[in-house]
Amino acid sequence: MEGAEAREPIIGIDLGTTHSLVAVCDAAGPRVIEGPAGERLLPSVVRYSNGRVSAVGSDARKGAAEFPDQTIASAKRWMGRAHGEASALDGAFGVEVVAGPRGLAALRAGGATVLPQEVAAVVLAELRGWAERALGCAARRAVITVPAYFDDGQRQATRDAARLAGIEAVRLVPEPTAAALAYGLGRRGHPETIVVYDLGGGTFDVSVLEVTPDDGSGAGAMFRVLATHGDTRLGGDDIDRALAERLLAEAGLGSAGLDGASLAPASRQALRDFAESAKIALSTRDSATVDVDLGGGARLSRSLLRSEFEAIARPFVERTIELCRRALDDAGNPHLDRVVLVGGSTRMPLVRQEVARFFGVEPYTALDPDMVVALGAAVQGALLGGVRRDALLLDVIPLSLGIETVGGAVAKLLMRNSAIPAFAREMFSTSVDNQTAVRLHVVQGEREMAADCRSLARFELRNIPPMPAGIPQVEVDFTVDANGVLQVRAGERRSGQRASVQVVPSYGLTAEEVERMERESLTHARDDMRRHRVIDLAVNASLDVKWIGDALERVRAHLDTAVVESVDQELHRVRALIALAKSAPESVDANAFQQAKEALDRASVPVHESAIAASLRAEQQAAGSSEPNSERGGGVAPRSPS
Ligand code: AMP
Repeated sequence: MEGAEAREPIIGIDLGTTHSLVAVCDAAGPRVIEGPAGERLLPSVVRYSNGRVSAVGSDARKGAAEFPDQTIASAKRWMGRAHGEASALDGAFGVEVVAGPRGLAALRAGGATVLPQEVAAVVLAELRGWAERALGCAARRAVITVPAYFDDGQRQATRDAARLAGIEAVRLVPEPTAAALAYGLGRRGHPETIVVYDLGGGTFDVSVLEVTPDDGSGAGAMFRVLATHGDTRLGGDDIDRALAERLLAEAGLGSAGLDGASLAPASRQALRDFAESAKIALSTRDSATVDVDLGGGARLSRSLLRSEFEAIARPFVERTIELCRRALDDAGNPHLDRVVLVGGSTRMPLVRQEVARFFGVEPYTALDPDMVVALGAAVQGALLGGVRRDALLLDVIPLSLGIETVGGAVAKLLMRNSAIPAFAREMFSTSVDNQTAVRLHVVQGEREMAADCRSLARFELRNIPPMPAGIPQVEVDFTVDANGVLQVRAGERRSGQRASVQVVPSYGLTAEEVERMERESLTHARDDMRRHRVIDLAVNASLDVKWIGDALERVRAHLDTAVVESVDQELHRVRALIALAKSAPESVDANAFQQAKEALDRASVPVHESAIAASLRAEQQAAGSSEPNSERGGGVAPRSPS
């Protein structure tokens, strides 16, 4: 069955300390494969009962508190280690380490004595099952990732684990190399130096890589690890713990720290879980609430500001930066081209900010930091299996990129077939008075309405000072770099507020989908254009109607009745058209709408003149009666009236 094997994909597996993932890459690009319950992360945890495997993954992790003596987590820490070396870690991670064959460290749980690779094999076999179910074919070959610092013994143990799981480890790839591959690094141009910063729950690793691009011979890019540093006991969990201890101390309950506090184990765990939730919430919000029942009538309830949390997290982040400094020194302080972020804890804004500051390079964050290593392993698998990376090898933008404006129309900033790298900038404004936040929705596609395009990302530009609608100047930049990574930056010029988001637009699209989207855009082109024009007219007319309506109220008494009547009439007509444009844009004639808008402009000339005269008279009091509203959000409005 050689033919069948040739068709079998080479899957990519991230065999992690706390969790593992499997991914696959075809012509459409890499994607993570889901388990039967739609989950993507498989906890690297196995439970043994009566000497046999009784639970794997989430079930084993959920039961860890109930069956501590039967559960093995973090087996990767002991992979290929000698017993003497490993027993130094004994106890610290809750697993009993014993002497195994050939002086190797073995683990004991639930009546079983197993080598770490046997535990890893159970995890790998589970992932193989996920892949086979999703792909509908056998998945017997895989690229598996290992930490950059794994020695020969640890690598061999990983290969053995694969073999036990019925998988041929076609290649072991260092985790940082996989992360770089996921971003398509090393595809073109000149050699680059890349830093991969990986901060997870329990460990930190930083690697400096040199990438020599494919020379066209098909051999692929060459990745060389120049230096690597890390700390196997530094991660997000330590930050949760420090936060929990601070909260306890404040409540007067834990002067001796979490372990010394007179808390029931369940309350201690609840406190740590709350600390982690607060930490995660503070990655996207400025404040979070902590409310924990500590038992015995004690309750901890308070709100926590991001700045307070960051003061607690900062020493941990500084330790990672110190290790980065050492790695850079070891690598001979090369010029850096890219920094890639890996690991759940790199979602913390403080981490992103300090990493950017230290390396002087804005890090790549477009891919989910939990998935990036598995995606890269899948890319390597596809290359080894001879799959062409069509979706990743494009030199042009396959589908236009733009943002949704008020009313649901799309402002396209980069048109399809633009060569990459590419850059575009456009100005937008607000659509509502005193709007202090602007929601930005990045979309991809040829259609004129956002609902008909593919949604790539959403983000918010906040803290804009309250101003009348149309006054803020929101500058939006789209940059697609040579690796196809899109960065969208938005900034309000007057206040200097900024926000940004990164995505890889080519991921997750098949060649057929690109074709379909193109075809549909042609079929709908005429209707789409008409609808877009009507919606833009409605947005601009709304601003006009508001200005004219307000001015008319101020000066009504000074104007001829005939003028007032005619303005009222035109206002009424335009308002009706705006309402219709919102509910049924296809039923509005854009030309008639344009004419109605122009008629209103003409009729309202005396209103403007009178309003200007009045405001000159009352110059002193004229300024700002608007009331700030901190929660006011909305989309962006096209800036130039059509
Ligand atoms: P990993 O081992 O890569 O899965 O990373 C897990 C760690 O990432 C845990 O400490 C999580 O609390 C942390 N983490 C996950 N999501 C976030 C987030 N949005 N903000 C901050 N930390 C996070």
